[in-house]
Amino acid sequence: MKESSDNRPVIDAEEVLAGICHWVEIETPTMNGAAVNRLADEVQSSAAGLGCQVERIPGRDGYGDILIVRSPWGGDGPGILILSHLDTVHAVGTLEHANPFRRDGDRVYGPGIFDMKSGAYLAFYAFQHLVRSGQETPLPLTFLYVPEEEIGSPTSRQVIEDTARHNKYVLVTEPAHDGLCCTARKGVLHADIKIYGRPAHAGSRHQDGRSALRELAHQIVALESLTDYERGITVNVGLASGGSFINVVPAEAEAKVCIRAPETEQLEALRDHVLALQPLDVDVKLEITAEVNRPVFPRLEGTAELFKHAREICREIGIDLEERHSGGGSDGNFTAALGIPTLDGLGADGHGHHTLDEYILFSSLQPRARMWVRLLQTLT
Ligand SMILES: [Zn+2]
Repeated sequence: MKESSDNRPVIDAEEVLAGICHWVEIETPTMNGAAVNRLADEVQSSAAGLGCQVERIPGRDGYGDILIVRSPWGGDGPGILILSHLDTVHAVGTLEHANPFRRDGDRVYGPGIFDMKSGAYLAFYAFQHLVRSGQETPLPLTFLYVPEEEIGSPTSRQVIEDTARHNKYVLVTEPAHDGLCCTARKGVLHADIKIYGRPAHAGSRHQDGRSALRELAHQIVALESLTDYERGITVNVGLASGGSFINVVPAEAEAKVCIRAPETEQLEALRDHVLALQPLDVDVKLEITAEVNRPVFPRLEGTAELFKHAREICREIGIDLEERHSGGGSDGNFTAALGIPTLDGLGADGHGHHTLDEYILFSSLQPRARMWVRLLQTLT
């Protein structure tokens, strides 16, 4: 820890980076609960060392545990919820070859460094800085670390919503794409389509067959044509499969569809549309399920206020904070959908999330850490 001439701790970008490096080096693919828990162990012991009360909820369905860390001051709230995920999309071993931790000029590479270990660590560092300086924040702080955000937080959603309801603000440590702060996100709808045709020999009895793949091809084209960039609607058939053998008319096929829209009414209309799809071939059967994976994150009035406040703080620090509306979902969707002012994208600046070229900008660490300290100090 570095200190200023009057013995007060200072925000040291090298120290921030060392902490991020430590979290990145504990690889945490979502599907490996034991690996995610190794980082949870680390966060838990660091938080306990700062005098925090830590609650650990055992993981379900093979996912890691959920950590709830409360500041030693301020009582039960309502306060500020700082929302982070510890998992990444990268398998264990990515660090060794595909994207090792390294510095190249201003860029610092590593699996999950941008999404979102740097953001999660920045917020933690800011809190640590306050503790070391002997400062308490006006509002109590709750840090929530979830183990499976990258697949939509199926086991932690309830905890996120319950914890958010006890708080006044939610700050999400997702990456800051191009330095932008996120004040709204699209909602996400997932649909599964199963198609049942009729098998037949592809040569001698072709006319008796009803191809499930042919039906699927029509449905895919019809579904994707619902994409409307002007209204912000996208339809992506991300997975499709079917058939059993080259000379058999395919009896079965299936597809998984991801639909995104900026407004709840649009998302609901799209869900109803998908559930009502009819087969083109009357001899073919469709089986469809569709559910909202993440509700729309609307730009709430309270969020706009929160953004204005963050913008002021950033101006003092010398950052020109701008906002954006994102097409990607996050756990912030759950809290904003409850009407709780939610500011997202407060992590480090960088590029390439979910890729093997993922990096953060070292130069963003110092100002972003200061932004976090000031946010926690000034929100009332
Ligand atoms: Zn993320």
